[in-house]
Amino acid sequence: MVMSLVNRERLVNEFLELVKIDSLSRKEREMANALKAKLEDMGFAAEEDGAGSKIGGNAGNIICKVPGNIDVPAVLLMAHMDTVEPGIGKSPVVEGDIIKTDGKTVLGGDDAAGIECILEAVRILKENSLQHGDIYIVFSVAEECGLLGAKNLELKDIKARYAFVMDNGGEIGEVAVRAPSQNHIDVKIWGKASHAGLEPEKGISAIQIASEAIANMKLGRIDEETTANIGIIKGGQATNIVCESVDIKAEVRSRNEEKLKAQTEHMKNCFEKAALKFGGEVVFNSELLYPAFNVSEDDEIITILKKASAKTGIPLKLVPTGGGSDTNIINSKGIKAVDVSVGMDKVHSQKEQISIKDMIKSVEFLVAIISSVEK
Ligand SMILES: [Zn+2]
Repeated sequence: MVMSLVNRERLVNEFLELVKIDSLSRKEREMANALKAKLEDMGFAAEEDGAGSKIGGNAGNIICKVPGNIDVPAVLLMAHMDTVEPGIGKSPVVEGDIIKTDGKTVLGGDDAAGIECILEAVRILKENSLQHGDIYIVFSVAEECGLLGAKNLELKDIKARYAFVMDNGGEIGEVAVRAPSQNHIDVKIWGKASHAGLEPEKGISAIQIASEAIANMKLGRIDEETTANIGIIKGGQATNIVCESVDIKAEVRSRNEEKLKAQTEHMKNCFEKAALKFGGEVVFNSELLYPAFNVSEDDEIITILKKASAKTGIPLKLVPTGGGSDTNIINSKGIKAVDVSVGMDKVHSQKEQISIKDMIKSVEFLVAIISSVEK
């Protein structure tokens, strides 16, 4: 491979600068300001949308257009600005090739690594006058608390055909092309309270209803693309009271929307049948957190990735993922999107870390991706 165009020192220093900024979900103000300033320093106008006020946050999505110098389809590059907790006062430690946390917080490489990868890639294109089409950059807010920034992002001014979301772990070259949809389920079961010793026959036990329902329910791995889980169950006050109500939280995931619906219906039916049997009531609420996506291997976006892999020698590995990301939302809004690894490791933990070599490689891969878009 030709000598890397990546400026290692600039990359590392800016990454450290970014992760030191507190940027919890809905509190991305300082990060948004820093990124806006950086994009403007690079000579590009950066705008902020109104997502912040819609979701009760203090910053909106940052949107920037980098004008192209050739006539090929535009791409969208995306990374999220927020981090999970504990994320206040992050103090990264550099140990040789590894950047890690001091053990007290997450590193925030999820997703500062994605942000840094995009910034460095665009600088390289500019410095070396490389050919590329229009590039839209979106730094989203509130990804970690339900993809709220992406959900509120208006795509009408973003004329991209392909989107590369830089927000995944794994080896560089790993790209998530399939992800499930998820239903979040809230159930409230109502029975009737009564003294458990004096007149139990006047009570209806919400716990018994829940037990009966769950005992009859298919849970766990339903099939190769569907899972279901009861995660939380709460209820009851004392042993001498027939339990009046139980709250249950559950989820269903599937890469197939029909199966998602069917499993959710099945769970609802189990609760309703059990309530009917005991004479109680059920309030069942299901909310689609995000839709599934499934990019086929013969899609044009995969051709672009294959070319980038051939150019860089970085092996391409198309993988499914079990989680949701901005990629789910962007796909559902009509731009073909995949989730590209930037090498983040042990995310959402105080052991989060990242390799500098991987970060450099991820920039090289992204530059090659952008350069591989053809008419
Ligand atoms: Zn992330």
